[in-house]
Amino acid sequence: MNQDVVEKFVFEHESDLLAALKRIPVYQRISFSDNHLDGNRFRELPLLNKQDVTQGFPFNFVGGRESEFSEKIEKGTWEIIESSGTSSDRIQIIRNANFREIWSPRIREYHNVYANRDSVREALLTTLNCSRAQCNLGVATYEERLFGERLVLNRSRTPALWDDAECERMLAEIERFSPQVLTAHPVYLSLIDQWCETKGIIPPKSDAVFMSYDYATRRSLARAGRWSRSGVFRSYGLTEAFTVAMDCEHGSLHAINEGCLVEILPYGNIPNVGEIVITSLRNDVMPLIRYRTGDLALIDPAQAPCPCGRSGLVIQRLEGRISELTFDSDNQSVTAGSVDAAVSECDGVEFFQLEQRGDRSVALGVVVNERFDERQRQALSGILRRLYRQSNVNVTTLPEMSPTRTGKFKIITRSIGPSA
Ligand SMILES: [Zn+2]
Repeated sequence: MNQDVVEKFVFEHESDLLAALKRIPVYQRISFSDNHLDGNRFRELPLLNKQDVTQGFPFNFVGGRESEFSEKIEKGTWEIIESSGTSSDRIQIIRNANFREIWSPRIREYHNVYANRDSVREALLTTLNCSRAQCNLGVATYEERLFGERLVLNRSRTPALWDDAECERMLAEIERFSPQVLTAHPVYLSLIDQWCETKGIIPPKSDAVFMSYDYATRRSLARAGRWSRSGVFRSYGLTEAFTVAMDCEHGSLHAINEGCLVEILPYGNIPNVGEIVITSLRNDVMPLIRYRTGDLALIDPAQAPCPCGRSGLVIQRLEGRISELTFDSDNQSVTAGSVDAAVSECDGVEFFQLEQRGDRSVALGVVVNERFDERQRQALSGILRRLYRQSNVNVTTLPEMSPTRTGKFKIITRSIGPSA
């Protein structure tokens, strides 16, 4: 972990950090009384769990300021939104209503597609919840889904409901809107790309495609490449803090230093893989100090500086969630990222969903294309047997991916923890 980045952040934000530690009820358990904070002391602060944020909400953040809370919500100065995670880890957030307007321009400095442009037209292809367009269900017109420079393309609860007419409508809207940036959920973009392929349609290209909202598999990144003139870039964020890391034009996933500090803290037993822990002062109603995201990242300690010149932490690869870790026969953790890497060795797989059960058996369901046959299935079984160092592996084909209630997709499910 880059010590200097922590030192610098704490030095620059010392007074805001101290104020939050003393004022916000959720941090009272730390009983922090010093009037000074440095990098070493900061690294000793306990981590904040999702449960700490949800328990007693909103008074764990606005306690003592109840009347201010009611007044600001009523006047529309503050808004309450819900995160878009899978149902078990969704949380509520209070923030200033102009939060996005404040932070969006500062985050956009991390990719050149936004440089020297007063405004950038961005099309969004994702779940209704992620695009904050729940009320659009089914019928909203183009104009109703246009929010300034942002156009929300999808209007279905799940892409399983898309028919030819819906896919044609979305393509026609991309032509009409001509976005410079397309920000997409990996599964949603893959599905419309598959549809285009089936119909022999060449997808309309944007200057840049950003993959966001969920884990992007290697296959989905490859499909997204057909929609971009300059490449496919990763954007990692969470509702609690907005965008936290973003690929620059050179494809390096930079942690974004604007009002936010990213630490990668050791987790489990995989070399150079750790949990993404963030400190975000962007939202002064709910400042998050050493907040556990539950997401894993791979870092390269010997990483050369990026040619773009941006400083700070670079994440090599996102590895999926801690809740998506599975275990091999030696009890070594296997990340969603490793499963994805293994599956991508086999041609013909469009999507996968893996389940590890209590007996440690591994069941992999795959949605395939015409290049997948019995030989591929055997090869994939062999790859997984080697990955998990065991033979209780079963590969079956699925007609389609099953979404969660929120329209996202869980690629790994496990009903066990590591054995003692
Ligand atoms: Zn860079």
